[in-house]
Amino acid sequence: MVTPPRSAYVHIPFCHKRCFYCDFSIIPLGDSAEAPGSPGITSINAYLDLIQREISICPKGPALSTIYLGGGTPSLLKKNEVGDLLEKLKRKFGFQDGAEITMEVDPSTFLENDLQGFLEIGINRFSLGGQSFDDSTLASIGRKHNSSELIEACNLINSLFKKGRLKSWSLDLIQNLPGLNLCKWFKELEQAVQTEAPHLSIYDLTIEPETVFGRMHKKGRLNIPIESEAQKIDLETGRFLKSKGFSRYEISSYSLPGHASRHNRMYWSGSGWWGFGMGATSAPWGMRFSRPKTIASYKKWLEQQESQSLEKTLFIENSRPIPLDELLMIGLRRREGVHFEELAKNFGWTQKETDRNLNLLEKYWFHYLNEGYLLRNNGRYFLSDPRGMQISNQILVQMFLWWDSLGLG
Ligand code: SF4
Repeated sequence: MVTPPRSAYVHIPFCHKRCFYCDFSIIPLGDSAEAPGSPGITSINAYLDLIQREISICPKGPALSTIYLGGGTPSLLKKNEVGDLLEKLKRKFGFQDGAEITMEVDPSTFLENDLQGFLEIGINRFSLGGQSFDDSTLASIGRKHNSSELIEACNLINSLFKKGRLKSWSLDLIQNLPGLNLCKWFKELEQAVQTEAPHLSIYDLTIEPETVFGRMHKKGRLNIPIESEAQKIDLETGRFLKSKGFSRYEISSYSLPGHASRHNRMYWSGSGWWGFGMGATSAPWGMRFSRPKTIASYKKWLEQQESQSLEKTLFIENSRPIPLDELLMIGLRRREGVHFEELAKNFGWTQKETDRNLNLLEKYWFHYLNEGYLLRNNGRYFLSDPRGMQISNQILVQMFLWWDSLGLG
């Protein structure tokens, strides 16, 4: 059953510069991001005005239980700018008591005062984009911060957490970066655990074609770990973090008890969410809609909505149901997996269609079910940890081949 959205994502697209692996919808501002009266500040102000307008014309919905300010680099904003955004959302939807309000922060963009300010206006969870503790690695992936800035940022955030001023915080790292091996990676993990972050997001490097890394990879100039090394790194990551009390509740997410991200769980549960801003995707009531990815086209789109009805766009004209293969993919990322028949029923399949298609899917998955990479329990399918999670891509490829064979895509 698709429930009404109780979550909102707001996209803040500004960054100092584009990292070499990143193909997100962002606007690099260089150092003009901070100087008063600079073109960067003018762009930020104009963009925040567009978001306020988008929230104004959005249909009403129930009070929000999770809000996520992502990007981009939301910590390039000032306290009052973030406060105005939260206030706007609150007036529109209301916030549930204890709502989780997360803000992504970049180590090169804040001082202690800035963090204090964000807490004062309601942020209660930070997600810190660390990526690596190694200076040469950070330079080679195009990050602006260095290792000591990252450690200082972790210490600042953790001290607020320990004082009870912050509900939780998360640190992002990327595994399988160029030049990495198991030995170097262990040093990264040990440092990550030393920060005392109660939540770690550990992403696999994805090579996107339209990035610096994409071009280097094409020329054979990117020295990333080979598949067997990458699998070993993933396996040892799971083991190591488990020994430190972390639970892997999703392929890329590890948390200490009570610190799983409610917002992330909402995405992976297939619930709906509101999205605001350039390039943001929303899926209210199970229908997904993606906004234009450049500022000019987003502005034009917004002006059209203001003269028509955003409700019409979100629910009827340009939206589309989230396809079943995608729901299966996000469901399989979670530790609790996915109930196939429930998904199929919501998707509108009859029992006969469900049985026939599931039968076929199990043929595609035969090897993985047989070898225990993929487990089945009362209609629920989930990846075994760590073996199944390690080769999740292979299992998902088979699922997509099954989906293609149905000819519904
Ligand atoms: S800081 Fe994040 S969003 Fe900005 S370019 Fe780097 S990876 Fe992309």
